Amino acid sequence: ATPVALMVGTGRAAQMGIIISGPDAIESSARIKTVVLDKTGTVTTGQMSVTSIHTTGAHHDVLRIIAALETHSEHPIAHAIVSKAEGLKLPAVSEFSSVAGQGVTGVVEGVIVFVGTQDWMEQHQLVLSDTQAVQLETARHTGATTVLAGWDGKVQAIVAVADTIKDDSAAAITRINQMGLETILLTGDHEDAAHHIAAQVGISRVIAGATPESKLQVIADIQKRGEAVAMIGDGVNDAAALAQSDLGIAMGTGTDVAIAASDITLIRGTLTAAADALSLSRKTLRIIY
Ligand code: ADP
Ligand code: MG
Repeated sequence: ATPVALMVGTGRAAQMGIIISGPDAIESSARIKTVVLDKTGTVTTGQMSVTSIHTTGAHHDVLRIIAALETHSEHPIAHAIVSKAEGLKLPAVSEFSSVAGQGVTGVVEGVIVFVGTQDWMEQHQLVLSDTQAVQLETARHTGATTVLAGWDGKVQAIVAVADTIKDDSAAAITRINQMGLETILLTGDHEDAAHHIAAQVGISRVIAGATPESKLQVIADIQKRGEAVAMIGDGVNDAAALAQSDLGIAMGTGTDVAIAASDITLIRGTLTAAADALSLSRKTLRIIY
């Protein structure tokens, strides 16, 4: 049976917009030493916008093709690209598929198109020219998230997308650090963009270029040290890591899969609510034991 204090804690939490679906997980929160945070949509708003596009061919033509593919994706990057193409007539796409944390692919106007990470391009033998390598570096140095698009054996476009850090992220992370918890930023994005964001919110450890599988592995590795770990995330790519963690916290603004995999859902989808949830679960425990 659930101890009364735990029920009271759950009730208090609900008033704060913190929905606890796995009260058992609260009990492990005393052993939590580390809090792992996803970047896009968790630390940042995930409301991305395209800041620059470098293309090999006519700008509009390339954007049309990329946006056509991205209409089939739910990723924040996809939304940014589709908005950028507003007003353009988009061609039909067949055989669409996506790999979380990597990118998307499909057939557009008889050509197999790939949009995603640099790794995604390499996996499909799409060659990056020296000029493009410089463009990529330059965009990454601004802290932007970069996306590549390629077909016909070549990278055809480099798109820079900027995200905004949520207003309260830095203050909330300070609170989490002050609870004596170590914070780690875990992201599928490139190192440069990840470090840029981490520095602004006071996270010193960064693990970048993570696939959904490696996100899960990071959590499992921490647990092997005999410590409990909390994971905060919002995406399809975070679901496995959230389920593996001792205390999975999902942004209520996130995907259904992330919510289903978590013990706690934050209605407001802010890190302030995450800090409240961590602090409340620790206080609730102190009442019980
Ligand atoms: P995060 O861990 O920060 O939430 P993701 O794992 O969702 O990031 O994405 C990692 C990277 O995969 C992105 O930075 C992007 O380069 C690529 N990617 C994933 N999905 C898409 C998509 N639909 N379109 C373009 N790129 C994508
Ligand atoms: Mg995310």
